[in-house]
Order: sequence, then structure tokens, then C-alpha cells
Amino acid sequence: MKPHADAFPARVGPDSLSALSGTVPAGDDRPGIEVEAPYSGAPIGEIPACSRADVDAAVERARDAQPSWADRSAAERAEVVSRFHDLVLDRRDELLDVIQLESAKARIDAFEEVADVASTARHYADRAPEYLASERRKGAFPLMTRTVEHRRPVGVVGVVSPWNYPLTLAVSDAIPALLAGNAVVLKPASETPFAALSIRDLLRTAGVPEAAFEVVTGTGSEAGGALVDAVDYVCFTGSTETGRAVARRAGENLVDCSLELGGKNPLLVLGDADLDAAATGAVRGCFANAGQLCLSMERLYVHRDVRDPFLDRFVRRTRALDLAAGYDWTPDVGSLVGSDQLEKVEAHVDDAVEKGADVVTGGRARPDIGPYFYEPTVLTGVTEEMALAREETFGPVVAVTAVDSADEAIERANDSEYGLNASVWTEDAERGRRLARRIDCGTVNVNDAYAAAWASTDAPMGGMKDSGLGRRHGRQGLLRYTESQTVAEQRAGSLHPPEGVPKGWYAKGMTLALRAMARLPGVR
Ligand code: NAD
Repeated sequence: MKPHADAFPARVGPDSLSALSGTVPAGDDRPGIEVEAPYSGAPIGEIPACSRADVDAAVERARDAQPSWADRSAAERAEVVSRFHDLVLDRRDELLDVIQLESAKARIDAFEEVADVASTARHYADRAPEYLASERRKGAFPLMTRTVEHRRPVGVVGVVSPWNYPLTLAVSDAIPALLAGNAVVLKPASETPFAALSIRDLLRTAGVPEAAFEVVTGTGSEAGGALVDAVDYVCFTGSTETGRAVARRAGENLVDCSLELGGKNPLLVLGDADLDAAATGAVRGCFANAGQLCLSMERLYVHRDVRDPFLDRFVRRTRALDLAAGYDWTPDVGSLVGSDQLEKVEAHVDDAVEKGADVVTGGRARPDIGPYFYEPTVLTGVTEEMALAREETFGPVVAVTAVDSADEAIERANDSEYGLNASVWTEDAERGRRLARRIDCGTVNVNDAYAAAWASTDAPMGGMKDSGLGRRHGRQGLLRYTESQTVAEQRAGSLHPPEGVPKGWYAKGMTLALRAMARLPGVR
């Protein structure tokens, strides 16, 4: 199909997109995959459907490029990433256009991606040399053994990313992988490949060797599966269902993986919360990116004493949201990404309504704005037999439930297969922090919905239970891409029985030494 020129924003046109997709090395002449602009449903371009052979070739090129990249010092690699940081901010408006074009999110949501990539790049450029430094470890006995732990890159890291944050989730996990001395091959979601291809170009301009960061496009089952089979580490972000399949393959290949998966995140409003702040925070927490955010709030538990005044404030703010298409900063909420997503959101709301839930606001699609727009929706009276009580909706839909105590709120928050992100609102911050530790989620925000924990790039982020394995961000977010290697030098004596000493005497001597060590402070 011919692309519709009027579907394009100011800085991106069909020619620039087709130039980007033309750089994906794909072998045979298979039909490409069409990409659409969800604002209008119009096609905007095509990307190659890479075959297993294409992916294998990209991984081989990356494997060849990796040793010389790893030979540079961590500080040199950090300089490259610092340049990348500056380029991302310099090219902000063009990146925002690409993200919006292929995902139809509001510009403010796209900006969160650009800001996140820049701050992740800055964090890891600053800290990578320290995270990667070799560390002295204690040997078995003081002075006898000199033991050092080194960190080596795993080799080629495969990143598989989803469509909801096409820039952030394509590159923010790749940055620490590159800084650790790995090459990266990325397979972005086929709905949103152009942000990934644009960012690849910025990495190369910053100085990452061409084959050290490759992008392969295509279907999840073929290109994604082939990538998982070919690399030395898999960093996957996506649904829990696909995550299980990826983990099975990684297990079969005996390579490590991190899995950032789905959520059904709870937000708790305690009886002493600042209700205006909680309502404002909940609106951002529920409807940022039209709810297509793994950290989004889909379950609100509100203390019964404040349920009505909170609901009133929350619904008023929700109704005031500007749901619109546009490449300016005015809209608050954009579109869903496509027809599958719209169908799922409609099915969840319709099922809940059929089974007795009340729609307080929203509850309908808005084809008058664009084919996949759906109104920010607040439901009450949601019960266990409704699909959206437990399943991730991944849309602008939230259920508000009254609870009688903080204990009940925590019990209900924890009653989920997921454990990604949670939020607690209270004027008593100390109590909020204490309660937060009882919630079974990898990140918990007090008096914020998700940004506080997410943007703390120095601290680990990831899911408990079915929300994932492993962590991104912080030291762990970089060291996952390394193999630790211990080099121990025996400088004096031996840990084995010395020649000519009877083994019984040796054992006696060792026993005395072990007892003495347990009693000497600082030796253990
Ligand atoms: P998805 O699982 O359908 O796809 C994610 C990626 O995996 C895509 O690139 C896809 O092509 C690829 N893929 C599909 N099948 C594959 C296979 N068999 N082998 C290898 N790769 C395969 O997810 P989605 O619909 O794109 O994204 C939405 C989901 O992602 C939601 O569940 C959301 O909660 C989750 N998510 C989680 C986080 C997090 O950090 N925890 C962040 C964003 C999104």
C-alpha cells in the first residue's frame, strides 16, 4: 500500500523511514511487514521480515566486532555513551516525532522516553567504570592467597523489546550491555521498529562500531526466536506468556536471561492521604501512555473513609484529560497502539459491565478521534469473576475498590500473580515506607505512582512473581551482562597437605587454624 503523506509529523517523512528500513540487512526477497500510524491507521512504511539466516548473520557480525569494542577501556566506552547522551537530547524533537508516529502516544509520554534514555546513558556512563572494576576478594587464609574477581562481557547480548515504549525499551537495556563490553543485537516489536532504527544511528554517530549494535526486524516467532537461540544473554521485555517461551529457549541453550514482564499494579490510598495529590498521581499512574505501561496502575484500593471524596477528585481529573491525536504538547492522552489492543480493552470493559461493574467515567472507544482511541475509564464494583480483576488490561482502565484498613489494602494488593510495581499514598511517609516493604512488588513508590522508582536509575527495577526474572537499572542492571571470573594466586604455603607431613597432622593443624580464624576479628 502507498503510505499516506498526511499521516506524518514535521520532521519525519516516508523517505526517511524507508531509508531506515533499507539499512536492515535482510537476505531473500520475502514480503516485508507493514507498519502503520495508529493515529490514523494509515500505512507509513515497511520493514524487512528477517529470517533465521539474517539474524544468525547479524549475530555473527556482532560477534566479530565485539572483541575490539571490549578491548577499549570502560572509560573509553563511557565517553562514547556520553556523546550518545548529548545526541539524544540534541535530536529530541525528531525522536519524539518518530515515537509518536509509530505508537500514537501523547508527546509528553514520548518525552518520558527521551528523558529516560538520556538519564540512563548518563547514569551508566558515570558508573560503569566503577561497576566493572576488578575487586580484591578474601582468600581462604589471610596473606596466603591473593584473589581477584574480574568482570568479563558475556559476548553478544540479544535485546527483544515491546511496542509500548519503543525508544526506552529498545535502548536503555542495551546501554549497560554495551558499556560492559558486549555487542548487542536488538529485535524491536514489529509495530514500532523506527524508533529503534533511529537510535541505532545515534549510537553509531556517537562512536559505537557499526556491527557492535545491530537491529534485526521481523516477527517475534521467527526473528525473535532466532535471536534467542543465537546470543549469549537474552534481555527480554514483553508479555508474561512470551517471557515464559523465551525463558524455556534460553534454558535449553544454557544462556542467562532477564525477563521484564507484565503487571496488574495496585495503588493504595490510605485514610490519611492528601487526596488531591493522590488523585493527581493516580491519573498519571493509570492513564500515562493510555495505560499501556507495564508500571501502570490497574487496581486502586482506597480506604473506605476517604473513598467518596477521593473518587470524586479522581473522576473529575480523569474527565478533564484531553484525549486527542497531535504532534504538539496539548493532548494528555493518546491512542492505543492498534486493533488487538483496542479489542482487548473493549473485551475487558464489556465483560466487567456485563457482570455488574459500574462505569463511573469513560468506557467507550472514540473512533471519531482515531481508529484505536479509548476513553480513560474508571470502574467500580469489579468482582473476582470479571477478567479485568486479575488479568493485565494494558489500557486506560482502572478498578476502584474500597477497603477497611491498610492491612486489607496490602492483602488485596498482594493477591495477584504479578508483582511489578505498586504505589502507596499517605501523609505519614514513615508509615508509607514501612507498609511499602510488605507489598510483593519489585518497585514500590510512596506518594508517587511509578516515576520515583523507575527514574531512580541507580536502584534495581524489575518484577517479582510472574512479572519477571532479574533486574534492570543499578549495578545489577549492568553486571547481568558479565561473567565473573575469579583469579586466585597462591602466594605462600599450600592449602593441601605439605609433602612429608602425615595427613592426620595436617588435618589437626588445619582444624586449629580454622578455629583460630573464627575467633580473630577481621579475619573471617
Ligand atoms: P510481546 O510479548 O507480545 O512481544 C514482545 C517482543 O517479543 C516483541 O518484539 C515480539 O516480536 C517478541 N516476541 C514475540 N514472540 C516471541 C518469541 N516466541 N520469541 C522471541 N521473541 C518473541 O509483548 P508486547 O505485546 O509487545 O508488549 C506488551 C507486554 O509487555 C505487556 O504485557 C507489558 O506489561 C509488558 N511490558 C513489560 C515491561 C517491564 O519492564 N516489565 C515493560 C514494557 C512492557
